[in-house]
Amino acid sequence: MNVGEEQQQQVAGTGNGVQRCTVVVVIDPGHGDSHDESTTIDPGAVGGGLNEADVVLDISKLLKGKLAAKTDLIESVHLTREGNVDNPSQERLLWRQQVAVAKKCDVFLSLHLNANEKTSANGKEVFYNHKSSNKAESAKFAATLFAAYKLPIAERKPPVKTEGLSVLATYPWTSRKLGKVRDATIFQSVKAAALFELGFVSNDGDRKAVVDNKDNIAGWLCDGICSYVSANRAILCV
Ligand SMILES: [Zn+2]
Repeated sequence: MNVGEEQQQQVAGTGNGVQRCTVVVVIDPGHGDSHDESTTIDPGAVGGGLNEADVVLDISKLLKGKLAAKTDLIESVHLTREGNVDNPSQERLLWRQQVAVAKKCDVFLSLHLNANEKTSANGKEVFYNHKSSNKAESAKFAATLFAAYKLPIAERKPPVKTEGLSVLATYPWTSRKLGKVRDATIFQSVKAAALFELGFVSNDGDRKAVVDNKDNIAGWLCDGICSYVSANRAILCV
């Protein structure tokens, strides 16, 4: 038994170590199903020659490495994709949730870069779904992440309530584009979920700040996740 396991068992409160506290984190690098505009269904934003999908994948891999070292707090960490995913076997966006559920995810974080045709639009935003079954924990998680993220760009507003992001939904969700209901009830097993827009890829200042600070961003997000997990283990370890 290593120190991490011992601590986890103590938190689980079984007294004799029969049950371990296991917190599983899944990081979702947004988009990335294809960069071919003729076939892609979810390309993500492009700005200054940079693809959102590629930048968030780089940061997600760095974040995975940092979280994997936190063995006293986190049992395992997974990515929903390790590269571009061509022809995903599942419906658009829902396959991300299915990866999380398959990994028995407790804490889910989707990473994105924002974009706007007004190139002056800038800043960081974090979203959580206030209609989902995990809304209370997700609100706490989003607030902790927002506080931990130190990139020196504008703060657009504190954590934003939304029900418009299917990847955070825990209920049947209707796509305005595709016009059909997806059953996202599988995601109810996830205890906290948030989506972070790390900055605007369409804004020169934000884009440079993000690209120049990929490792720092991964570190701040790691701090936020660990801080949330550490403060909420009684809830996460059931
Ligand atoms: Zn995005």
